[in-house]
Amino acid sequence: LDAGNAGVKVDIDEKVIVSSTGALSLDKVPGHLVVVGGGVIGLELGSVWARLGAKVTVVEFLDTILGGMDGEVSKQFQRLLGKQGFEFKLGAKVTGAALDRLEGDGRTLLGLGDAETIEADAVLIATGRRAYADSLGLGEAGVEVDERGRVKTDGHLKTNIPGIYAIGDVIAGPMLAHKAEDEGVAVAETIAGQAGHVNYDVIPSVVYTSPEIASVGKTEEELKKAGIDYKIGKFPFSANGRARAMLHTDGFVKILADKQSDRVLGVHIVGFGAGEMIHEAAVLMEFGGSSEDLARTCHAHPTMSEAIKEAALATFFKPIHI
Ligand SMILES: Cc1cc2nc3c(=O)[nH]c(=O)nc-3n(C[C@H](O)[C@H](O)[C@H](O)COP(=O)(O)OP(=O)(O)OC[C@H]3O[C@@H](n4cnc5c(N)ncnc54)[C@H](O)[C@@H]3O)c2cc1C
Repeated sequence: LDAGNAGVKVDIDEKVIVSSTGALSLDKVPGHLVVVGGGVIGLELGSVWARLGAKVTVVEFLDTILGGMDGEVSKQFQRLLGKQGFEFKLGAKVTGAALDRLEGDGRTLLGLGDAETIEADAVLIATGRRAYADSLGLGEAGVEVDERGRVKTDGHLKTNIPGIYAIGDVIAGPMLAHKAEDEGVAVAETIAGQAGHVNYDVIPSVVYTSPEIASVGKTEEELKKAGIDYKIGKFPFSANGRARAMLHTDGFVKILADKQSDRVLGVHIVGFGAGEMIHEAAVLMEFGGSSEDLARTCHAHPTMSEAIKEAALATFFKPIHI
């Protein structure tokens, strides 16, 4: 097992079994896939292989999957994946991997300390990424980096060296393609003499599993930590007509709004098409809207999005269809 900087490769019988930054190429669906790391990428790829027929076990160092997401969302989602056959070993640290050549088929033995050994046909390492700035000559140019090796920028994405800007995964913030894209646009606008700006409070994030998870804004844990008084509105897709007609009743919408002003601070959706639905919440939050604004906006019937309106209603009153 060779954990390099740009990814991890496990070579078994000359087949590339896994690479955390490259393509997964297997000549057949593995009987048992072990995913090391219960973050976004590990769960997305685990979800794909599970749907193709693999038995998937996720080994995660933390006590929860999707660390950093709203705690209730990650718990409920773990339950959903469990119903789909996923197995989880949380609070477990992988201590090594060995190839059992005696089996002939190239199965890997994955050690979890002294406590346990898991046998797998393929292992996917998805334990996270870090800014890849080593080859950029930042030191020679005098560009400052932070304690995690990320390029330091100000509110206008300028580094400490005039004329050098930085965007994307190499600077602080969520490592997401659309965040990098918006920063690129902002820098182009700044260079053109306009007012380039990125609102980091409203960057949606989507987990492309089945069902999807989408969120924008604060989690409950973040609001508690910041000492902000909030109220919660929730609505399950099992009570949504379109979801029932499409047999996609798993999941729910959860809205967090400021207790005093009713301003929406965070929206979290687990459910079919969550990655599309999240954007009405993003637009609302970009305009500083309240849950009442959302609840009083007419939503077409029958749509999955009606669950968002109902969750908004539940934030300050109660939903209609439950
Ligand atoms: C498996 C996986 C799945 C992902 N899925 C999603 C997703 O669904 N949605 C999402 O929003 N984000 C996703 N991401 C994250 C997303 O890919 C990144 O956030 C995004 O690509 C960051 O853009 P960037 O321009 O900062 O960096 P990159 O896209 O990595 O581009 C940097 C480029 O610079 C090049 N480079 C590096 N060093 C040098 C050098 N010295 N000279 C010249 N060129 C150099 C690299 O080769 C690379 O092409 C995923 C990432 C991974 C690994």
